[in-house]
Amino acid sequence: MRIGCHGLVWSGEFGPSGVRVAAEKTRAAGFDFVEFPLMDPGTFAVDEARAALEAFQLESTASLGLDADSDVSSEDPTRVARGAALLHRAVDVAAALGAPYVGGVIYSAMQKYMEPASAAGIRNSVRVIQDVADHAAELGISVGLEVVNRYESNVLNTGRQALAFVREVDRPNVVVHLDTYHMNIEESDPHSAVLSCGDRLGYFHIGENHRGYLGSGTIDFGSVFAALVAANYDGPIVFESFSSAVVSPSLSRMLGIWRELWTDNEELARHAAQTIRGQFLAAQRAS
Ligand code: MN
Repeated sequence: MRIGCHGLVWSGEFGPSGVRVAAEKTRAAGFDFVEFPLMDPGTFAVDEARAALEAFQLESTASLGLDADSDVSSEDPTRVARGAALLHRAVDVAAALGAPYVGGVIYSAMQKYMEPASAAGIRNSVRVIQDVADHAAELGISVGLEVVNRYESNVLNTGRQALAFVREVDRPNVVVHLDTYHMNIEESDPHSAVLSCGDRLGYFHIGENHRGYLGSGTIDFGSVFAALVAANYDGPIVFESFSSAVVSPSLSRMLGIWRELWTDNEELARHAAQTIRGQFLAAQRAS
């Protein structure tokens, strides 16, 4: 099992200094890779990130969420084209980093919608994901669709919806990405949601119900890890946590990170790495 830490645990910006801090501290906390947020692939410090990964013997993955102007689930061809271009660019940045994965809310905007997704919009989204997946496949990269709660997308809110979408897309390098924080809001039973995704589950986020310190909330991690073991999941597992102590101008506001749920990110991340490895081992032994 390879475990990762989301970059926003360490820094709100991913210019030259932010990428280095994120890589250095992710490694020091005991993780195998860092998940870099590529909210703006244009300002992400690619060369410095690659150098930092090399220096700290760390791997990486990449994630992003689209905004309203680049919404590929829109019926407006201009927005759809903008989103497709942004996703292609994100795949190219991931390739430059040697990252095997790009995912997130890449099938719609990451925002609260005031109306349901339209059939025409979803067709646009499927078409763009097919195209991005084909580009990613040439570079050996898999593409993940992160299932999020109803306040962050109107397209994929449950594992079952994601599985149907992935089947529609019909590309071998497209996977379902689940996240315990979102599952806690939307799934009837997180355990069976993991199992129902089967071998299409390709990426997993671990987060508390309030996105703070692992174990200080209400998520039943014993059940979550038992489900991952029962599903024979051996893909990446990433710790995701946000506090107003670290602010990304674009991401923090959209995610509603208003409260200071932690200040000591080094302690937070060390504890998370130990918890994830310990819980996974316990679930393996229990089975
Ligand atoms: Mn997540």
